[in-house]
Amino acid sequence: MSGIAELRTPESSEQAAAGVLEIMQRLYPICRSITGDGVRRTLSVLGERLPLTLHEVPSCTPAFDWEVPREWNIRDAWIRRPDGRTLVSLAEHTLRVVSYSTPVRARMSLQELRPHLHSIPAHPDWIPYRTSYYREDWGFCLRHHELEALEDGEYEVCIDSTLQNGSLTYAECLLPGESEEEFLLYTHVCHPSLCNDNLTGMALMAVLGSALASSPRRFTYRLVFAPGTIGSIVWLSRNEAAVGRIRHGLVLGLLGDAGRLIYKRSREGRYDIDRIAGHVLGHQPFCAELRDFTPYGYDERQFCSPGFNLPVGRLTRSPNGEYAEYHSSADNFDLIRAQSLAESLRACASIITVAEANRRYRNLKPQCEPRLGKRGLYRAVGGQDVSQSEHALLWVLNQSDGTKDLLDIAQRSGLGFDVLAAAAARLAATDLLEAVH
Ligand code: ZN
Repeated sequence: MSGIAELRTPESSEQAAAGVLEIMQRLYPICRSITGDGVRRTLSVLGERLPLTLHEVPSCTPAFDWEVPREWNIRDAWIRRPDGRTLVSLAEHTLRVVSYSTPVRARMSLQELRPHLHSIPAHPDWIPYRTSYYREDWGFCLRHHELEALEDGEYEVCIDSTLQNGSLTYAECLLPGESEEEFLLYTHVCHPSLCNDNLTGMALMAVLGSALASSPRRFTYRLVFAPGTIGSIVWLSRNEAAVGRIRHGLVLGLLGDAGRLIYKRSREGRYDIDRIAGHVLGHQPFCAELRDFTPYGYDERQFCSPGFNLPVGRLTRSPNGEYAEYHSSADNFDLIRAQSLAESLRACASIITVAEANRRYRNLKPQCEPRLGKRGLYRAVGGQDVSQSEHALLWVLNQSDGTKDLLDIAQRSGLGFDVLAAAAARLAATDLLEAVH
């Protein structure tokens, strides 16, 4: 398995993207929700790639203004037509049943059944994704043309589900680094058979985690696989005292469609993660976009709530609600491009690489230029063009007064981060430069 540095190359990221797709294929059929065995089965597949610690938080446990909901599990669900033929079934597609549907076993008229049926009139061939986590209800999701073709008569309905005290399951992978300061990566694991949102996030983060596990690490990495919204709220409620360790954070998800890569800034907008992601996305050969924070989206809403205001941004391609296939059966493998996954992996690996290498330095001989030649750092023959790496040595020495980091120097010099980081590493191996902090 390649490390983070290799993941930045097209060849290695394309190979890794194939691994992401393999995991997605295995996870696609599983009926997931915010709690229940679907999440546990999912985490056990991801656990084959990286060491995961499972946490089970009992139902009714308070978490700020929320509480852990009862655990939902489903075995079977179907509707039979008046003539006895099956209209829809859970076995055919996990989106067929409204997530968190309460158990039902009944015969009813179409008129009674109709309020429990959902469709997307604008896309009559797609099955919608619907949930009813916090309101007791049940329902089925149909293609609109199926709904329109329903005849009057008596329908037989079965939802073999349970909604009872149990627990909410999430998993963490902790990869210690030289520092106790943490880089938090978070993805939601609660969606059933939907590819971009969010099998891409789960699978890509697992592959990224396994690359991190085999790489040298300055920061400690904490990868959290948990349900959307309630998962991050519960996680924060259990880790409130420790969030001060979080130096950088990224919510990852929706990373495989053809849309451009988008970094959404933290609430503060000026944390290091915002500068790092801004720099990395600005220097990719593919299209990327930077957006300001909004209190709408995925779990960044919780990490960036005013009581936490953490340095956590979000990386997605087409975000929630901005592509037609969002939350429907059309968010399937047809929507996913291996190339997009590879680009997303490269961007994540670059963000991590820059975060690891970005630091402040102090020039130890700041009075006039030190002599680089006698330290083997400068070209031996005068009169040649000064190479980019030599420019980088001069920029790092000139700007390193202990207040500016390498990203500041990249910004000011127009030089790439990697060439500056390499220059800083060469200088730090001599008596000319030392890292601050
Ligand atoms: Zn979603």
